[in-house]
Amino acid sequence: MTIKKHTIVAIPGDGIGPEVWEATRRVIDSSGAGIKWIECMAGQSALEKTGELLPEETVDKIRQYGIGIKGPCTTPIGGGYKSINVRLRKEFNLYAAVRPVRSQPGVITRFEDVNLIVIRENTEGLYSGVENEVTDGVIMSMKVATEVACMRIARFAFRFATRYKRKKISCLHKANIMKMTDGLFLECARKVHEEEYPNIEYEELIIDAAAMRIVQDPSRFDVILCENLYGDVISDLCAGLVGGLGVTPGANIGDVAAIFEAVHGSAPDIAGQNIANPLALMMSGVQMLRYLAATRRLPKLEEKALTIANAYRRCLSEGATTADLGGALGTKEFADAVIEHIEIP
Ligand code: NAD
Repeated sequence: MTIKKHTIVAIPGDGIGPEVWEATRRVIDSSGAGIKWIECMAGQSALEKTGELLPEETVDKIRQYGIGIKGPCTTPIGGGYKSINVRLRKEFNLYAAVRPVRSQPGVITRFEDVNLIVIRENTEGLYSGVENEVTDGVIMSMKVATEVACMRIARFAFRFATRYKRKKISCLHKANIMKMTDGLFLECARKVHEEEYPNIEYEELIIDAAAMRIVQDPSRFDVILCENLYGDVISDLCAGLVGGLGVTPGANIGDVAAIFEAVHGSAPDIAGQNIANPLALMMSGVQMLRYLAATRRLPKLEEKALTIANAYRRCLSEGATTADLGGALGTKEFADAVIEHIEIP
């Protein structure tokens, strides 16, 4: 049976971006997911070709199709350029950062059974960037919390947990000190839990104690909900539990658009050498297919996501990996190995 084509905007990016993107595209295409890709530019390469870091055409295409997958982009140092990720986040109000953190076979770490999701509020907190010098030698940075954004991320987290059959949400905070901002974040999460999703287990943990518990026993966590700065730190901490940059996908999701990408950067030190690990972008591709399946009611794409995940897990358990994970395969050869392991039901 042929699947109807779904159009997705793909941004190969800079440095290792085009290599890991090509590997990812080949794998997704081989699964028969039936995606039509519209390739657009962003980053250093776009700047060199068009004079713009984030060309209007790229923004228009994301607006038109609503879903994008993105390789890492280099933001030039100096020249006053704003990070592309920050610009995309603002342009499309991508208010939820979602990072699945899962142990992978053959990737040896301290824990074997990590399977959690970090959901981070992406638009406010200390990231509002409102800072001022009160007087000589005294700087203030403003932490912003609005009821609208706190309710929105709380609803997103509970809806997400419901959609993906997750059982428990742990809301991390420091409301004992930041009684008003973190207090509001908690109040909103509690309200959404009590009034809309009482079936999902809910707990509140002070962030420092929670960090200790996560590294002691990550298996007790299911979905972690945080404001912006805590989410940034906790999502990297959790990524470290399962093997770091090479195995960490992510997504920035809003009401009108969603952009999926690996957590790592453009790695200019290894670009063009066919040694970069494309797995994190492949995993972001799997996350994207699952998102499409759930939000556009396309159960076939959930199957395709599982097919790809099973294929790369089998490669990992056989030691067929790139050098950063201890194997001997190049970027292209790893993609070939995953494709060989794809079993279409
Ligand atoms: P980086 O993630 O690019 O690299 C850190 C180290 O990890 C390097 O040694 C690199 O070789 C290695 N590495 C990264 N990804 C790898 C992969 N897939 N396979 C094997 N090794 C990998 O971080 P950086 O050096 O701080 O940043 C480089 C550039 O990337 C900067 O211009 C930064 O702005 C950009 N960046 C972009 C994004 C994004 O677009 N999402 C994210 C982070 C950094």
